[in-house]
Amino acid sequence: MVHMQNDSSLEPTIIIGSGLAGLCCAFELADKGKRVMVLEAAPYIGGRTANWVEDGMEVESGFHKFLGYYTVLPEILKNAGISMSDMVHWEETTNIRHTEAQGTFGLDPFKAPLKTIAGALGNNDLISPADKASLIPFFTAGFKDYISKPHYLDQYSIKAYAEKYSVSTDAIERLIQPLSSGIFFLPIEEYSAYAFFGLFAPALPRLAKVRIGAFKGGMTDVMTGPLAKAIEDRGGQVLTGKTVSHLLYDNEKVVGVQLEDSSQIYGEQVVVATNIRRAQMLLSEHFHNHEWFQDLLSLDSMPYVTAQFEATEKLADADHTTFGPGTQLGSFSEQSRTTFKRPTGRASIILVDPDSLIDLPDEEVWEITKKSLHEVDLPNVDTMTQYRIIRGKENFYRLAKGNEHKRPKQITPIDGLFLAGDYTDQPLLATMEGAAISGRRAATGILTGRVL
Ligand SMILES: Cc1cc2nc3c(=O)[nH]c(=O)nc-3n(C[C@H](O)[C@H](O)[C@H](O)COP(=O)(O)OP(=O)(O)OC[C@H]3O[C@@H](n4cnc5c(N)ncnc54)[C@H](O)[C@@H]3O)c2cc1C
Repeated sequence: MVHMQNDSSLEPTIIIGSGLAGLCCAFELADKGKRVMVLEAAPYIGGRTANWVEDGMEVESGFHKFLGYYTVLPEILKNAGISMSDMVHWEETTNIRHTEAQGTFGLDPFKAPLKTIAGALGNNDLISPADKASLIPFFTAGFKDYISKPHYLDQYSIKAYAEKYSVSTDAIERLIQPLSSGIFFLPIEEYSAYAFFGLFAPALPRLAKVRIGAFKGGMTDVMTGPLAKAIEDRGGQVLTGKTVSHLLYDNEKVVGVQLEDSSQIYGEQVVVATNIRRAQMLLSEHFHNHEWFQDLLSLDSMPYVTAQFEATEKLADADHTTFGPGTQLGSFSEQSRTTFKRPTGRASIILVDPDSLIDLPDEEVWEITKKSLHEVDLPNVDTMTQYRIIRGKENFYRLAKGNEHKRPKQITPIDGLFLAGDYTDQPLLATMEGAAISGRRAATGILTGRVL
């Protein structure tokens, strides 16, 4: 057994996982002069915000959008010297392509006011004025319940909640479905009403910032890689290919980690910043009987499935976020003008209902994707030259009804142990901003010595 280091005066804070939660936590600590060591299992940095080459094709973990009302992640990136304008291209419109009708919505009430107003008032083919009117009591009650009765709201699926407020069938299928399943994949019968309003509620006080950004490159290249570099510039270490297999627990304190190769590293604190299922596996070894961990250990996870392809023609005439309600398409975009500029055509697609797709062979998932793109009148998919199906089995906490109260705080009752990750308790759900908030909270706990 190799002891990589155990001199307590030199012990760093060990952070397991180089997703945004782990990197933001590490950056906040390194920026305050703490020694940090990030251990990442994968050969690349970034977790669910990464790009890499898969069998000769450049891919990303999945189609991602940066929401303009995020605050914590932009602040951390700015402190790390990463310029938002170098990283993100702001979109002016978004598109809903239903099999029977389409609509284009403006996204930026201040910079593109006419498009925004025209989108909200128009698009009557997609959603009639009566459908729009049926949404008003639903949104009014939903935002109120989100603030005053979050646990009550989380008992409803978004479909049941919309039906309770008599939202029309078309408005459910053509607007609520894309704004729920299109974002967090789950069918509307399962998708929590809390998660639905929780994504939009933080935008209300920041309406001027309601816009959607596409990355100007792969996410490791433009965001997580530079963030790792900023950590290293401050004396920290970010190591890839290091899988943590056990937490070292001694005398009621977490004192370090053991890697797959059996080497051990001691740390002043350990931050578990992995995705949910990995965190459950690491924690259950020592804490399966501990009361504080019971909700977390029973929090269900869900997979994701994306299709990405290169083509000789562009899929659409603009690179902008598009939803495909009524098909297997969640949200997707042509990306060859913004994110991956080498191929003539390049698209990334998040597929809905991943539970039904996760175990299918790539060929079958591709056929389903192709059929859906034809259904929403995007035939250029036929010019595909190569595709990859990128999937993750248990990366997300399940944004289904009834799960919200199981999300754990970042500060645990165990000496030396902190948690970070989008599944931990923070208001921004399973988003990049949520991951950043969780990382900052874990770092604040370490820096201030707060205990439960
Ligand atoms: C397809 C898709 C689309 C998305 N779209 C958006 C979007 O549009 N907007 C948005 O804001 N968010 C989006 N998200 C969500 C966002 O990516 C996540 O919420 C966020 O990146 C989670 O960060 P994290 O650090 O909590 O977890 P992760 O990024 O999953 O990081 C966990 C890390 O831990 C590592 N790890 C696990 N086990 C071990 C171990 N034993 N030892 C060492 N390392 C380990 C993993 O390899 C991984 O790198 C999307 C995610 C996906 C997958």
